[in-house]
Amino acid sequence: MSDCLFCKIIAGEIPSHKVYEDDRVLVFLDIGPVSRGHALFVPKVHGSDLGTATKEDACALIGAVYMAAPKLLERLGASGYNLGMNHGADAGQIVFHTHLHFMPRYAGE
Ligand code: AMP
Ligand code: ZN
Repeated sequence: MSDCLFCKIIAGEIPSHKVYEDDRVLVFLDIGPVSRGHALFVPKVHGSDLGTATKEDACALIGAVYMAAPKLLERLGASGYNLGMNHGADAGQIVFHTHLHFMPRYAGE
């Protein structure tokens, strides 16, 4: 989608710090992290929110977390993480391209 920020990141038209990728999902660092290593898991195919994604892409988001999380935690020295999704404007969604927030947590924080 031409005027979508995350589609532009996926297309490489806007720079991002990519940390993981598979055939359906791109993962890059959030520009306004709530914790060190805060990353966004984003389907490569545009949809405004989870309700418009295919079931395959919806499942691929969790599949990418399953694959990437152990590596990210090890690299960051994090001991856990929170997942979150703001679905719809009233829930705080600002970027209308489906994304899952991955927020690493650290012992003693
Ligand atoms: P939300 O739509 O509220 O779930 O959150 C959108 C997220 O996108 C926010 O956490 C922003 O910090 C993040 N964000 C906005 N622009 C960029 C960007 N250019 N690169 C990485 N993350 C971004
Ligand atoms: Zn998009």
